[in-house]
Amino acid sequence: MQTGVKTVQVRDVAESTVCVHPTAVCESQNVGGGTRIWAFAHVLDGAVIGQRCNIGDHVYVEGGARIGDRVTVKNRVMVWEGVTIEDAVFIGPGVIFTNDRYPRSRGLPEAVGRYGHKGTWLVTTMVRYGASIGAGAIILAGLTIGRYASIGAGAVVTRDVPDHRVVVGNPARGSCWACICGVPLDDNLCCPRCKRRFRLRADTLAAAE
Ligand SMILES: [Zn+2]
Repeated sequence: MQTGVKTVQVRDVAESTVCVHPTAVCESQNVGGGTRIWAFAHVLDGAVIGQRCNIGDHVYVEGGARIGDRVTVKNRVMVWEGVTIEDAVFIGPGVIFTNDRYPRSRGLPEAVGRYGHKGTWLVTTMVRYGASIGAGAIILAGLTIGRYASIGAGAVVTRDVPDHRVVVGNPARGSCWACICGVPLDDNLCCPRCKRRFRLRADTLAAAE
C-alpha cells in the first residue's frame, strides 16, 4: 500500500496529481503535484520531493533527503538522508550519493557509540540550482555542487565544485566552464551555442555585463 499520494495511471498525469507507478512504493506525504515516480522506485517516509519532478525506475530516496521542483532523477539513483537537491537539477542514471565520510558497520563492536546520534556521522551534501551530474558519478559526503556545475560521467567528486565548473575523472578535477545552457564555454568564456558571455573574477564565473 502506498500512503499519502494517489496511485494513478501515469498517462493520466495532471499538474496537481502525483503519479506513482503501481510497482513503486511511495511512503512520503511530501511529494509535489505533477511529479511522476516510475517503476520499482522507493521513496521513504520523511523524504521531500517537489513539484513536477521525474523520478526514474529503481530510484531510492531515503527519509531526510530533499529534492526541489522540476528535478530529473534518472534510473537507479540513490539519494540518502542529508542530501539536498535544489530546483531544476539533472541527476543522471546510476548516480550515487553518500552521507558518511568514514563508514563502519553498525555491527562492528569497536564502532559502538559512533552511530549513537547523527551528529557523529551524518554529513550533508548540497546540489545547487541548475547543476547536472553525469551517469554513474559518485558524490562523496559533505560537498556542495555549485549552480550550473556539470559533473562528468563516472566522476568521483571529492571536493566542492564551484558554480558553472565542469569536473571529470577520479578524483574529479576541473576541466572547463559550463554555460547556463550546459554547453562548455570557449577560451573567451563565450558559449558557442547561446552566445552568452561570462567573466572570471577570483576564480568565480559570472555573466559578463
Ligand atoms: Zn549557452
